[in-house]
Amino acid sequence: MSDDELILAIDQGTTSSRAILFSHPGAIEAASQYEFTQIFPNDGWVEHDPEEIWATTLKAIKDVLTSESRDTRAVTAVGITNQRETIVVWDRETGQPVYNAIVWQDRRTASVCREIEAAGHLETIRSKTGLLLDPYFSATKVAWILDNVAGARERAAEGKLAFGTIDSFLIWRLTSGRVHATDATNASRTSLFDIRVQQWDEELLKIFDVPANMLPDVKDCADDYGHADASVIGESIAIQGVAGDQQAAAIGQCCFAKGSLKSTYGTGCFALVNTGDKMVLSSNRLLSTVAYRLNGETTYALEGSIFIAGAAIQWLRDGIGIIESAEQSEVLASSIETGEGVTVVPAFTGLGAPYWDPDARAAILGMTRATSRAEIVRATLQSICFQTHDLLAAMHDDGVKVAALKVDGGMVANNWFSQYLADLLQLEIDRPQVMETTALGAAYLAGLQAGIYKSFDDIAANWKLDRSFQPSGVDNSVQLSRWSRAVAAVRAFAEV
Ligand code: ADP
Repeated sequence: MSDDELILAIDQGTTSSRAILFSHPGAIEAASQYEFTQIFPNDGWVEHDPEEIWATTLKAIKDVLTSESRDTRAVTAVGITNQRETIVVWDRETGQPVYNAIVWQDRRTASVCREIEAAGHLETIRSKTGLLLDPYFSATKVAWILDNVAGARERAAEGKLAFGTIDSFLIWRLTSGRVHATDATNASRTSLFDIRVQQWDEELLKIFDVPANMLPDVKDCADDYGHADASVIGESIAIQGVAGDQQAAAIGQCCFAKGSLKSTYGTGCFALVNTGDKMVLSSNRLLSTVAYRLNGETTYALEGSIFIAGAAIQWLRDGIGIIESAEQSEVLASSIETGEGVTVVPAFTGLGAPYWDPDARAAILGMTRATSRAEIVRATLQSICFQTHDLLAAMHDDGVKVAALKVDGGMVANNWFSQYLADLLQLEIDRPQVMETTALGAAYLAGLQAGIYKSFDDIAANWKLDRSFQPSGVDNSVQLSRWSRAVAAVRAFAEV
C-alpha cells in the first residue's frame, strides 16, 4: 500500500459503536462514535437492540468514509472488533433478529448454568473451552432465545435461523447476507468451541442445546471475510481482520511474544497474557482463551478480569461526590505521603478473577478520625493495583512468567496510578502513545491479510512509547498483607 492508503477499523463496544480510519503507521486519521441504548428489561438482564447497533455502526462508518480528513485517500481493508460473548439470533431469509442482542453482562441464565453444573458437565466444558461455566458466555444465551421466542426452536431445526456474536452479525449485514462467519477469538468465548482442535464441538452443542446449523464458519483473525457492499457503505471494501475486543487490544499493544501482557483499565480491567502455542489450563480460575489464530496456527492466552476499575473512580465522583473529576483522583492521591492504612475493596458487583465471588460487596476499612477524602481516593486507586497484583500472582502460579506490562484504557492517564502499579507489581509499566489499542488491533489484522504489513515485526515497529514507569524497589509486603486481610474480611462479611 502506498503510505496514503487507509484501513477502516470498526469497534463495536458495549456502550458505543465507533469507526476509525488508521494510516499505515497506525495513526488515527478520522474517527466517529455513537452511543446506543442499554436495555434492562428485568433484574440482571441486559440487552441491546441489534438494529440500533447496526444503525450506529453504519453511521460511524459513513462518517469516516466521507470525512474531510480522509480526503481522496483509498481505504484498502476493513477490520472488525467487538464486545465479546454478546449474541444475536437472526432469520437467514430476512436478516431480521428474532430477539434483542443478549449482552455479556446478562445474568438471566444463572440457573441454567447451575443445572448444567449439577449434571456434571463442568470438567468437559473447562477442558475443551478453557472457560468457566457462567452466564457471561454465549451458549446459554442462544438457548434462552430458542426456548423463549415463540417458534424459534422449530425454525432453528429447519435451518432458518443464524446465530452470531456481534462481529458475525455485522459481517452478515455488511456483506448483504452473503457471509456468515466469525473468527477464532470470538468463537472461543461461546462455550461451544473446542479451542484445542479449533472446531465447534458436538458434545458441547448437545450440553447447551444449540443446533449446529445455526453456527457461523470460524476463520483466522486475518482472513478473507468477503466484501462490505457498496450498496451498504457506499464503496466496496474487503473485510480482512476480526477479533474480540480484548484480543484486539492485545494485538494493538503488540503482545506477540510469549509472556507479554496487556492490561486495559477502562470501566473494568482485562488482563491478557500470551502463552504461546500451548493452551495453559489455569488452576486459579483464570480463563484460557485464543489470543489470535493466523494461518491456521493458534496462539493462546490466559485472561483475568476485574469487574470494577475506572468504575470505582466514577463512584467516587458520581456516587458519593468526593471528587469532581476523574483527573482529580491523581491530585488527591499525590497530595499525601501515606494512605495511613486505609484500604478499599471495590467489590461493588462481587469479585472477579481469581476470586469469582459474586456475593462479596465493597468496603472501606481502617479509617480513623484523621481520614480524609485523600486517603479514600488513594486507597481506591491502590485497590485496582492490588487486584492486578492478585491476577499476576495467579498467572505466575499457573506457570506463566510475565516480563513487562503494557497498559491502556482511560485510567492509565493517571500517572500516580501507573507509578503505583509499577511499584506494587515490581514490573516496568509501558504506556503507548495510541490508546485506541482495540481498534488499532483490528486494523493491524486487516492490514496483515491485505499485505500492508508483512509480519508482526512490521507491526511492532509502529508501537510507540508514551511513558514508561519503573518500579522503585520499595517493599510492599505490609500493604499486600493488609489487602489480603481486607479481601478476606469482605468475603467473610458476605457469608450468611
Ligand atoms: P470504557 O472503554 O470502559 O468506557 P475508558 O477506557 O474510556 O473506559 O476509561 C474510562 C474510565 O477511566 C472511567 O471509568 C473513568 O472513571 C476512568 N478514568 C478516566 N480518567 C481517569 C484518571 N485520570 N484517573 C483515574 N481514572 C480515570
